Amino acid sequence: MKSLVTGTAGFIGSTLTEKLLKKGHQVIGVDCFINYYARSLKENNMSSFIEHENFTLIEENLNDLDLKELLKDVDYIFHQAAQAGVRSSWGEDFEIYTHNNIMGTQRLLEASKESDIKKFVYASSSSVYGDTDQLPMKETNRLQPVSPYGVSKLAGENLCYLYYKNFNVPTVSLRYFTVFGERQRPDMAFHIFIKAILQDKKLTIFGDGKQSRNFTHVQDIVKANILAAESDFSGEIFNIGGDGKRVVLNEAIDLMEEIIGKKANREYQKVVKGDVKHTSADTSKAKEMLEYEPEVKFEEGLEREVEFLKNLYQ
Ligand code: NAD
Repeated sequence: MKSLVTGTAGFIGSTLTEKLLKKGHQVIGVDCFINYYARSLKENNMSSFIEHENFTLIEENLNDLDLKELLKDVDYIFHQAAQAGVRSSWGEDFEIYTHNNIMGTQRLLEASKESDIKKFVYASSSSVYGDTDQLPMKETNRLQPVSPYGVSKLAGENLCYLYYKNFNVPTVSLRYFTVFGERQRPDMAFHIFIKAILQDKKLTIFGDGKQSRNFTHVQDIVKANILAAESDFSGEIFNIGGDGKRVVLNEAIDLMEEIIGKKANREYQKVVKGDVKHTSADTSKAKEMLEYEPEVKFEEGLEREVEFLKNLYQ
């Protein structure tokens, strides 16, 4: 099997690449190392497979590549590349989001029309739902993103559907609910909080800390990608959430303190535009159609992230 993983150097892309190589796939990884966070962290993400004989890295932006040529003999596309992050998607920077998330996705879909791929798995996001009282979130909910990032992810998802409908490109979109675990992006809350506790720094919480999330361990996200790729379904959208619990942020920080054995120096600040109050995934569709069952318990996943970050920052 030959797979293309876009965003191969990122948090999720690198974890997925590692798993596919273990499964015996040949992997072409594309990443342009956008400077959203340090390149050294991304190189660290890839250290276990960069020399692997079945891995080829193409350091290029999806918008600049000859994608038709690249897709020759590719069986699966795992499209993880995007400019991530809700808070930095406002104002002039929206152009970075449209370029990477919308244009990049459209170009890849356009090239897929003339390929023989078996599946195109798109990394969508719970941010497409917006701030809603309709909890848990179901795939059939009204979609009203409250951040420009969410709008760009929804545009990608809509593009996937229309290329399926009009050209039979076998797309599946997975709406990830806040992903955590080893290699988590340095702009994400758990990474920032754990680092602050380890280094005895102030830990800033936006809002009252009572916001809640359905957190999903990165290994479960990887598992869902592979199940989706190997499934018979196309043109479908699935929520991918964690071990079922909705966790309140303050309680997640309590647990970090317990695992690390140190108190956090908490500071509460105003809510930031674009952040939603609660997310909660109804994953019954993925359970039924993909046989998706999250395996990593929240506490265990957090312990694994702490261990990973201790090695980086202590
Ligand atoms: P990440 O920033 O760690 O990884 C994304 C990678 O894509 C980066 O290495 C970046 O350099 C690369 N990239 C971006 N645009 C590119 C382009 N046009 N061409 C080539 N490479 C490009 O982010 P992540 O957290 O691993 O997220 C992966 C995917 O999952 C993204 O699509 C994101 O929107 C989605 N997602 C993530 C989360 C989460 O909690 N991390 C939640 C929902 C959805």
